[in-house]
Amino acid sequence: MSERAAGIEELKDRLARLPRARFAHLPTPLDRCPRLGRELGGVDLWVKRDDATGMALGGNKTRQLEFILGHALSHGYDCVIQGAASQSNHARQLAAIGARLGIDVFLTPWLDARSRPVQGNFLLSHLYGAELRPIPSGASSIEAKARLAEELRTEGRKPYVVGMGSHEALVLAAVAYVEAFLEVLEQLGETSPPHWVFTTSQGSTQAGLQVAVELLGLPTKVVGVNPMGPEHEAYASPEAIARIVVDCARLLGYELNVGAEAVVNRTDQVGEGYGLPTRAGLTALRLLARTEGILLDPVYTSKGFAGLVDAVRRSEVRPGERVVFIHTGGLPLLFAYADEVLEAMGGEDAPRS
Ligand SMILES: *Cc1c(COP(=O)(O)O)cnc(C)c1O
Repeated sequence: MSERAAGIEELKDRLARLPRARFAHLPTPLDRCPRLGRELGGVDLWVKRDDATGMALGGNKTRQLEFILGHALSHGYDCVIQGAASQSNHARQLAAIGARLGIDVFLTPWLDARSRPVQGNFLLSHLYGAELRPIPSGASSIEAKARLAEELRTEGRKPYVVGMGSHEALVLAAVAYVEAFLEVLEQLGETSPPHWVFTTSQGSTQAGLQVAVELLGLPTKVVGVNPMGPEHEAYASPEAIARIVVDCARLLGYELNVGAEAVVNRTDQVGEGYGLPTRAGLTALRLLARTEGILLDPVYTSKGFAGLVDAVRRSEVRPGERVVFIHTGGLPLLFAYADEVLEAMGGEDAPRS
């Protein structure tokens, strides 16, 4: 166990000093999953239900946007820009929150393979009234957002740009997962921290969890399973994630010495690429549905949970160890990927049309 740099109360106090908008349903439940734990050879499994953060079917962005928008609004920004795949969870949650707070939301979605028929997240982003400025599939989201920001500034607006390429927003997103870890500790009892925390992460979520673990000096191991590989524009390397860790700690008033070697972010569940479901992921999705009644999504959380199943198979995670899976949401993607999900159910138990 490393040296404890901070106590729980002190961390809570530092978090409470940051500007924040409020709309998430917190704390989220921590579900004990004994049936699935037995299925995995006897691990003490818990699922942190951040798919239940509220706002448009929940997810980790709702929790993160409390700090991101808190910062943006307290610094005089008057609208928000996000851009990613058409089925972006971030875009959907931001659109809902924009509607609720009365802030204009501009999105630059890719017109990719999942933008037609309009379904899932893309449908909801429309429904919430975000202003959509679609770009060709594969064009740079970072450049599209920058161009749109420039255009809005010439109209006298002050846009805040979030998502890939916006380091400050990624750090604020991580802060939210320092708090999520404190919730987990409170729910488990401070003296019973988990041996492992697994989550699907492109950086911010695992960085925040790691900041909490490091500052509190806990032996908990944080594992992030990345839904994309280095070929993707939004991919964050372990070096980039370590920078988020250091800057997140700094924002809370601590100096942490964490480098890339201390960041465990795996790309072995990506499969053929971002947004393409894998067999192992769809198997995990079906397993959670049928043992615990919990829904995963085909793009993010199914791959994250497949990473946990793999760690159990390799005896990295051992029977009796306490494991928390942080469920980051993504529910609307189930509907945008209905065909793949059905196929994974196999011939016999799939409903016939
Ligand atoms: C965005 C997203 C992630 C990745 O979150 P980070 O904060 O970038 O790590 C994981 N899961 C789901 C469902 C997401 O929408």
